[in-house]
Amino acid sequence: MNEKNTYDVIVVGAGSVGTPAAMFLAAEGLRVLLLEGAASPGQGSNKAAIGGVRATHSDPAKILLCQKSLEVFTTWHERHGEDIGWKPGGYCFPVYEEGLRDQLQGMLPTQKKFGLDIDWLDADGIAGVVPGIERRDLLGGTLSPGDGQVSTLKASVAFQREGARRGVELRVKEPVVGYAVRAGRIEGVRTANNIYFAPRVVIATGADALAHGRMLGAHIPVTPDSHEAGISAPVEPFLPPLVVDMHEGPEGKTANFYFGQVHSGQIIFCYTPKRAFLGHNRENLSEFMPVLASRLVALIPRLRNLLIRRTWRGLYPMTPDGRPILDWVPGVEGALAAVGMCGQGFMLGPGVGAQITDMIMGRPGLLPPEILSTLSLSRNFGATPSEALA
Ligand SMILES: Cc1cc2nc3c(=O)[nH]c(=O)nc-3n(C[C@H](O)[C@H](O)[C@H](O)COP(=O)(O)OP(=O)(O)OC[C@H]3O[C@@H](n4cnc5c(N)ncnc54)[C@H](O)[C@@H]3O)c2cc1C
Repeated sequence: MNEKNTYDVIVVGAGSVGTPAAMFLAAEGLRVLLLEGAASPGQGSNKAAIGGVRATHSDPAKILLCQKSLEVFTTWHERHGEDIGWKPGGYCFPVYEEGLRDQLQGMLPTQKKFGLDIDWLDADGIAGVVPGIERRDLLGGTLSPGDGQVSTLKASVAFQREGARRGVELRVKEPVVGYAVRAGRIEGVRTANNIYFAPRVVIATGADALAHGRMLGAHIPVTPDSHEAGISAPVEPFLPPLVVDMHEGPEGKTANFYFGQVHSGQIIFCYTPKRAFLGHNRENLSEFMPVLASRLVALIPRLRNLLIRRTWRGLYPMTPDGRPILDWVPGVEGALAAVGMCGQGFMLGPGVGAQITDMIMGRPGLLPPEILSTLSLSRNFGATPSEALA
């Protein structure tokens, strides 16, 4: 062990979670090493995300974490003078089915209890915020005007820069290949050419979490599940909110399809396929564009001439119940898993980073213990992950 290779905390994975976590940890005066396997930060799921950011969940842990994230995203420009592409306008869930209406209206009391700015709008109200939306059978929907969108690439660069200013040492092209554990305590990590020491290690490896659990002798149930996204050529700004469409498309009933207009005018979109595509493959599938196009045009017919510029496929790091994992790894003192962010890791990232910092500093955090325990590795993972997909 030498002083050069010794840190207070090592963060493994410079993605949606690891990059802001390293930044917050360094702000506490800790010596932080951020290790990334790819050639630069944000190259995992982070760059695949379409940048939707909302605090309006039904799960208390996600609400509190995303409230913190929203505070970080919305004040970034003012605090650091750097544009991260924040676009307000909220999230809108238009509703065409009575069952879904009852479900969304049933969530409102919990959401309001947490102080969330969300309301039910009638069909005219929804048509006012989503101009050109199909009115046939439209029952209304929810709108949460405080939510919005951010550029995932700009945010990653901004967190990395701010981290560097606070002293984070970033090393890229250094995948962690093993962990040093002695007498049930973490001592450091191994890469192909180096070994680094720290009494605390944060595992923020996203879709690769299962393999890192194995290296530590623990089961971390994260399965990569691929989703596709795309972006159009710019059009005149007309769409303030990010829209989540949950009604049935040509492929039958799917979880949802969501899209928005970024502040430079492009329409950006993503959908959850009917059939799960598990694994690390990121090649585009032929089913995506036809389904996507028909759903988009069915919902907003005026978009029928939209020119699509680019599509891509990325990974949702899914847990069996759709909730993130944020817990000390059992049997390995000092190792903290912050993985399994599902379809919401970009919006959870800064909040999770702040919570990790509280846990490492050993102080009460953003999440009260009874809420933090819902993200534990020892919870019952039995439920279905429907709420984790947009
Ligand atoms: C199409 C699509 C659209 C999405 N849209 C949204 C959205 O609108 N809003 C939202 O909140 N979320 C969205 N998501 C989900 C979001 O992208 C993920 O939940 C989030 O990026 C996960 O963050 P993470 O930090 O856990 O993983 P990542 O961002 O993937 O970071 C993990 C990092 O660990 C690195 N790594 C892995 N193994 C090692 C190793 N051995 N050594 C060193 N480094 C390693 C990886 O290279 C990677 O950089 C979307 C996802 C997809 C695919």
